[in-house]
Amino acid sequence: MGIDDLPVRDELRGKSPYGAPQLDVPVRLNTNENPYPLPEPLVERITERVREAARNLNRYPDRDAVELRTELANYLTKTGKYAVGVENVWAANGSNEVIQQLLQTFGGPGRTAIGFEPSYSMHGLIARGTGTGWISGPRRDDFTIDLATARQAIAEERPDVVFITTPNNPTGNAVPPETVLALYEAAQAAKPSMVVVDEAYIEFSHGDSLLPLLEGRPNLVVSRTMSKAFGAAGLRLGYLAAHPAVVDAVQLVRLPYHLSAVTQATALAALEHTGVLLKYVEQLKAERDRLVAELRAIGYEVTESDANFVQFGRFADAHEIWQKILDRGVLVRDNGVPGWLRVSAGTPEENDAFLDAVRELKKDQE
Ligand code: PMP
Repeated sequence: MGIDDLPVRDELRGKSPYGAPQLDVPVRLNTNENPYPLPEPLVERITERVREAARNLNRYPDRDAVELRTELANYLTKTGKYAVGVENVWAANGSNEVIQQLLQTFGGPGRTAIGFEPSYSMHGLIARGTGTGWISGPRRDDFTIDLATARQAIAEERPDVVFITTPNNPTGNAVPPETVLALYEAAQAAKPSMVVVDEAYIEFSHGDSLLPLLEGRPNLVVSRTMSKAFGAAGLRLGYLAAHPAVVDAVQLVRLPYHLSAVTQATALAALEHTGVLLKYVEQLKAERDRLVAELRAIGYEVTESDANFVQFGRFADAHEIWQKILDRGVLVRDNGVPGWLRVSAGTPEENDAFLDAVRELKKDQE
């Protein structure tokens, strides 16, 4: 008796759940987490806020998460060079849920979404889960988006939702703002459709957030997360910024009280500590740049990175190399991009362990 013996939906037959292996090894650099635990004063503040929330757990939480959305709007305004208010911001359990709500609202049966691959594979998987047709758009061999072919794909396919991940996962490179603008124009001319800019890694970028592009573009959505820069992957808090009409629209599909009082309290505590959390971001950016430089010095090819991870190669058999690195106690990610692997920036000690492992491998190959 297995899944396929049940009357599951046809499109789920023979599929496996998404997720990287959760292996118990000394150095885990495979899921783009922040390696630094939350600082102790923040842990204290979370405890206080959650204790307060616990006294009211007999009641449903604030369904509209107004205080939290206000603080997220303040954070975006402070860091994004563009003023947004509570009416522009929506939050959910991880940006995966934000993406799901967007696809439930703007995709669905009879509709399609496009992403430029390789990119974040959950975009396509959530599309499938919401009955949205998925179109795999092209990238060049160097993983940049070729504007002419991307525009052509949008014009021909007329998708209802366009995903642009910048910085892109798993490749690490950012998409130039001019390209995002041109794709937005192409998407409006073709349909019009919603353009979702997934900025999960933007705090690690050399460049700025694309938030200012929201001005005068009601079909643009910027999605963000507290899983990476805030070091709070376990919290499950993602959010979006967009025209207030988009915020109203996603509320048509959200489950009532989707964000628990405990989640809201924890996220609010973290937002009180953005200063110290963003200092870790600076350390991670420096470590990311060191990984790029050292991997190149060892003789690997490296894709430019604006994220907290680095894509490196090329390998005749990336999976075999993944296993050899794992045999040396370091878990990296094989995203299935032929010839390439991805390593998340960890602490300096973790990165040293990784660099030692791949240095050794390179010597063995020579
Ligand atoms: N977008 C991108 C590009 C990601 O890489 C990830 C996490 N790997 C997410 C969204 C989802 O993150 P979360 O649900 O933790 O916010």
